[in-house]
Amino acid sequence: LHRNPGEAEFHQAVFEVLESLGPVVAKRPDYVDAQILNRIVEPERQIIFRVPWIDDAGVVQINRGFRVQFNSALGPYKGGLRFHPSVYLGIIKFLGFEQIFKNSLTGLPIGGGKGGSDFDPKGKSDSEIMRFCQSFMTELRTHIGQYTDVPAGDMGVGGRELGYMFGQYKRLTNEYESGVLTGKGITWGGSQVRKEATGYGTIYFLEEVLRSRGESFEGKRVVVSGSGNVAIYAIEKVQQLGGTVIACSDSSGFVVDERGIDLELVKEIKEVRRGRMAEYVEHRPHASFTADASIWTVPCDIAVPCATQNELDEDDAATLVRNGCTVVGEGANMPATQGAARVFAASGIAFAPGKAVNAGGVATSALEMQQNASRDSWTFDHTDARLREIMQGIHDRCAETADEYGRPGDYVAGANIAGFNRVADAMLALGVI
Ligand code: NDP
Repeated sequence: LHRNPGEAEFHQAVFEVLESLGPVVAKRPDYVDAQILNRIVEPERQIIFRVPWIDDAGVVQINRGFRVQFNSALGPYKGGLRFHPSVYLGIIKFLGFEQIFKNSLTGLPIGGGKGGSDFDPKGKSDSEIMRFCQSFMTELRTHIGQYTDVPAGDMGVGGRELGYMFGQYKRLTNEYESGVLTGKGITWGGSQVRKEATGYGTIYFLEEVLRSRGESFEGKRVVVSGSGNVAIYAIEKVQQLGGTVIACSDSSGFVVDERGIDLELVKEIKEVRRGRMAEYVEHRPHASFTADASIWTVPCDIAVPCATQNELDEDDAATLVRNGCTVVGEGANMPATQGAARVFAASGIAFAPGKAVNAGGVATSALEMQQNASRDSWTFDHTDARLREIMQGIHDRCAETADEYGRPGDYVAGANIAGFNRVADAMLALGVI
């Protein structure tokens, strides 16, 4: 704690992983001798930089940019960029730390990193977004490369922002190095299914959880928080699998639509108009919009938090359990607080952590890198089938590891231990570096 003061989210993420590793430490004195735990919590490199840009009124604006290159034992650093006013070093380090284990769980050759800026894209014009992205990439490009570090999107960074960043990278380097970023558009080196991957992957993972209990999404009431990239495609996949999503949200409130969320309307509001969820009820008057309250009060069978960290606290968890919810899967990174996770563990419901559940996004990014490296492009169905197979593999790895370490049904322990062991073995093999 004293080495990283004021980084509450990073402390929370480290604590959550270390809490699971007792049985590993007991079994593997060689990890202890090689100081793997002390090494793994220290980023290999962290870069903080100035991002100056000029707004539409001609006023100079200054933001702060970050890239934390956390661990490259398994491959080049890989992880998204987040543009959100709440971003500071502690958020990027928590996300980068989680990313190490998530990437490890995919079984693919990718290390862990994360970056972003405290820039707020909300309310900015298209040309302001472009000028910001160009300035951000002017510094970031020194630190990235297809064999070094491959960023992607995260909150506030989608196809538009990645396009402006890739354009600037290409201009500065005079190279069409597609493999330097993932989440690219289909016409300029992107992969089919990348846009859908985190949301679809989340639901593929939960499909396996349900299957292991002899159930399916058919007829289930599902609540998905958020209405961004992850939430939209999670909702789409639940609907395809026969479930009904009755509520979703944004940072100003939540919508309940008992007839089932009209996803085309949500896409129109959020992806096309970049509007607010409150607009939903103008088109669907039977639905309701509630501000300043928790979406987790809406009774459901399955809860899928897909918005942001610490959006579901202990009281929300108790409400969900009381209302009969039996499965919770984290589409976002660390949306459940430590208190909420304890309530879920005590209640015996299936609680699956983000580093396993939402790994489909980064896994498909790795598939995008494969396609870029071989100058190939796969079909939607082929890529989707690979994603589903990867998510089934992650589910089984978590479940089997939990069994092996005497914690049957504990997806948190399974994910942390399985993710950690693969990185720790690689770190041992590479020596003290
Ligand atoms: P987006 O920016 O596309 O969407 C975020 C959504 O969450 C928006 O609807 C936003 O609303 C909402 N939101 C933000 N803060 C709150 C809040 N306090 N309460 C309720 N809603 C809120 O981000 P993504 O969908 O890409 O990311 C969501 C989560 O998933 C993040 O934790 C991210 O790290 C994680 N993730 C994303 C991956 C990806 O591939 N995109 C991969 C793996 C994890 P508003 O519009 O009002 O801001």
